[in-house]
Amino acid sequence: MEKKLIPVSTPFLSGKEASIVSESIGKGWISSGGPYILEFEDKFKKLNNRLYASSCSSGTAALILALQAIGIKEGDEVIVPNFTIISCAQAVIEAGAKPVFVDCDPHTYNMDTSKIEAKINKSTKAIMAVHIYGLSCDIDPILELAKKYNLKIIEDAAQAHGQTYKGKPCGSFGDVSVFSFYANKHITTGEGGMVLTDDLSIFKKVQSLKNLCFNNHSRFKHEKLGYNFRMTSLQAAFGIAQIDNLPKVIETKKAQADFYMKCLGGHDNLLQLPIAKNDFCDNHYWVFPIVFKKEHTFPEVSKELKAKGIETRPFFYPLSKQPALKKYSSTSSPMKKSEGLYEKGIYLPMGPHLTEEKINYICDCLLELIS
Ligand SMILES: *Cc1c(COP(=O)(O)O)cnc(C)c1O
Repeated sequence: MEKKLIPVSTPFLSGKEASIVSESIGKGWISSGGPYILEFEDKFKKLNNRLYASSCSSGTAALILALQAIGIKEGDEVIVPNFTIISCAQAVIEAGAKPVFVDCDPHTYNMDTSKIEAKINKSTKAIMAVHIYGLSCDIDPILELAKKYNLKIIEDAAQAHGQTYKGKPCGSFGDVSVFSFYANKHITTGEGGMVLTDDLSIFKKVQSLKNLCFNNHSRFKHEKLGYNFRMTSLQAAFGIAQIDNLPKVIETKKAQADFYMKCLGGHDNLLQLPIAKNDFCDNHYWVFPIVFKKEHTFPEVSKELKAKGIETRPFFYPLSKQPALKKYSSTSSPMKKSEGLYEKGIYLPMGPHLTEEKINYICDCLLELIS
């Protein structure tokens, strides 16, 4: 008999989403105008201690807007972690620039900042700092390099809503910082994104680029090309209902991770479990990643777990090996850590649908498979 799958992720809802969204509909605000957008942007920028917030249609769109708004252009190079989502490299390419990859730390999954400086040259214009899987990346060395070489920082906090680095919010560090509100992020609007900055000129560029660069004086005459990356009022209303729920989301995920740790602990020879805390932060567990230390690999274990009704996800495929990126990035030094992780890592279900009973079941199945 086919078992109903335990999904790898389900969205956290506060329960207020439907009423605020229908309020927005009732008032006639269904496209990208109106007070709900402004309220969501205002609440979100305050959450992250920033001066300006511009909502948009996705985290990928936010990255594309961010790079172009800080002036990245053809001939430039941007340092990007090798272990991240394709959007990070794609946004660089969309700006006409070249992504240059840096390997990750195999325990935190974040960019190994000791390997950045060797990749900096005359064409380097920016470093993309991405917080991966729940731990903030090491921002201080990135800030130092940016200062030393006069580089901009794009901070991708799409997996780090409510996370901090040494007590300061993730999303407060970049010349420009971006978030995603996809359904599996800690705050969701279904699909959506946000660009944050303290620089008014960057903010104005983002506002213009996301809105087809309409002209204030002569609306349909365009001096530049942009995008339609606007967020809708329906998404913003949904987001307003989500913001206050963030502490509960993080608390729930931490409790689920603690329980996973208990069930999977004591098997150091078989499994690498996530780091619960480091010098920068407590882990917020955007996902619960595990790495197989013995012969087991991602496709095999995932398939067997699926047969037992458990959905999992593979780790990020290293950008240095992405077929779609071959012609845009040069073959540089080997990326042993991130390239090695893909075959060995998966992440396990998390979300409001999980109970301790289900986590027990997942861990029992997993340990049976790999012991
Ligand atoms: C989810 C994510 C994105 C992309 O966001 P979308 O809203 O899915 O386009 C970008 N960067 C990181 C690190 C992400 O996790």
